Amino acid sequence: MFDVAVIGAGVAGLTVAQQLQQCGYAVVVVDKSRGVGGRAATRRLHGTRADHGLRYLEPIGEMSQQLVKVLCDRNILQLWTDTVYSCESKMPRYVASDGMSAIAKFLATGLEIKLNQRVQAITTTDDKIWHLGFEAAENITAKAVVVAIPAPQALMLLEPLTESILPAGFVDKLRSVQFDPCLSVIAGYPSQQQPNLEWKAVVFPDNSDLAWIGLDSSKRPDAQMPVFVIQSSAAFANLYLDAQDLNPAAQQLLGCAAAELMIPWLDTPDWFQVHRWRYAFPSHPLVRSYLNAETPLPLICCGDWCGENLLESALNSGLAAAMEIDRHLNNLPLPGINFLDNL
Ligand SMILES: Cc1cc2nc3c(=O)[nH]c(=O)nc-3n(C[C@H](O)[C@H](O)[C@H](O)COP(=O)(O)OP(=O)(O)OC[C@H]3O[C@@H](n4cnc5c(N)ncnc54)[C@H](O)[C@@H]3O)c2cc1C
Repeated sequence: MFDVAVIGAGVAGLTVAQQLQQCGYAVVVVDKSRGVGGRAATRRLHGTRADHGLRYLEPIGEMSQQLVKVLCDRNILQLWTDTVYSCESKMPRYVASDGMSAIAKFLATGLEIKLNQRVQAITTTDDKIWHLGFEAAENITAKAVVVAIPAPQALMLLEPLTESILPAGFVDKLRSVQFDPCLSVIAGYPSQQQPNLEWKAVVFPDNSDLAWIGLDSSKRPDAQMPVFVIQSSAAFANLYLDAQDLNPAAQQLLGCAAAELMIPWLDTPDWFQVHRWRYAFPSHPLVRSYLNAETPLPLICCGDWCGENLLESALNSGLAAAMEIDRHLNNLPLPGINFLDNL
């Protein structure tokens, strides 16, 4: 049995787990995916890699500033650009040449993480212990559970407990959180097609289909070919949310980008892949740093939807959720923001 089971190996879940493990709790993290990071995602393809989720790290708050500092000291992050075309504010943006999932790999150091394990049910026996149930693995038991996944997915997992264990108010708050989707297209071009661009990234605040484009290969010192990542608007992604074949949507986005940027060859990549993020960005987040079920056995939800600052919120939410769990268990001295220096 573990002291704490954390569902979700994204930035929020890994932050909770580090906080609690570093002060002596027995912690396990479970994730349905093949790797850690959640939306801090990097895909290996065509002999290179590309960030189809988290684009870059901006030091907008205390937590992300500290993370940038520690990761730059370890040569995991490098400054990418301070200018995103058509964004008025200049702000340094940091990237990892190995891909943004390197941030999660760093946060995962020394943790016990079970991958490829989707939690299908959470139950409790006599209010004494939590059980996490999986399709094809043994149950995990723990004294406390942290649900560090997007609120709509947490709702699906927790709704069955509404009558028996969870207060209706808690479930209503979870239900009030909404997310926007996003389609990400990764497109690679012939190596002789060297783009001579004045920008590394562009936002499209007024385009109905496009949201953002970045020259992803400019993050990689050893890039052999130009690779772009194009992110759709939420409205565009909503049109294709349940489509079986996303290739026509990807081609439409490539065409849009070519027209908007007046780069005709963007329309005809050598190859492309597309990824559907059903829960990309919280559109209606909570204004609190975690959501406590207030059950006799601790159960806390956290993630970037607890706050309005995406990755910075995920970090802060993870920190706050760990403090709340600790308060319910042994009241041990947590490392706080210094946990990054201990990795
Ligand atoms: C396309 C895109 C671009 C972005 N760009 C930026 C940016 O430039 N700057 C910025 O600050 N933020 C950006 N973000 C947002 C940022 O990536 C998120 O805010 C942050 O990564 C959220 O972390 P999290 O831990 O809260 O959730 P997640 O990363 O979503 O982690 C949740 C984890 O839970 C797992 N999970 C879900 N259900 C289960 C289950 N039942 N059982 C087991 N595991 C489960 C998932 O596999 C996932 O690994 C971007 C996001 C996207 C999608």
